[in-house]
Order: sequence, then structure tokens, then C-alpha cells
Amino acid sequence: MTSTSCPITNEPAQIRAKTADYTEYDCPSCGVFRISSAALALAGDNPETLAEALSVAQNAAEKGEVPLVDNVVSG
Ligand SMILES: [Zn+2]
Repeated sequence: MTSTSCPITNEPAQIRAKTADYTEYDCPSCGVFRISSAALALAGDNPETLAEALSVAQNAAEKGEVPLVDNVVSG
């Protein structure tokens, strides 16, 4: 586990896993979620966009599945 800041809420969070495709975070507010490298790069300075993308991903995830933010709509 690696300590970091949540890219969405900027709270102390843990990185649970990191692959070439995504990073998996565990944040006290956001829960466990994954963000693709592309989405993170696109929304790096736009946490509100990421927060929106996360809630979409959470709704799309099956029960027990970790939400993956792989798509960021800007604007
Ligand atoms: Zn968070």
C-alpha cells in the first residue's frame, strides 16, 4: 500500500494497486475505485470532472465490482 492523496477529494488515501492501465485508490470518502491513466491525465487539474466521472462509474459498476473511471467528459 502506498499513501497518497485522493485525486478527487485530495484527502489522504492509499494506492492499492497500480497497473499500466489504471491506479486503484482507497479513499475514506470515495471508497475504492480505479482511474485509468488516460482519465487521470485528462482530468488532472479538474477534480470536479473526476468526481462526476466517479459517480457515473459507481452507478455502472456491478455489485462487488470496483468502479473504473476510464472516461472523462470535459466541460
Ligand atoms: Zn476521495
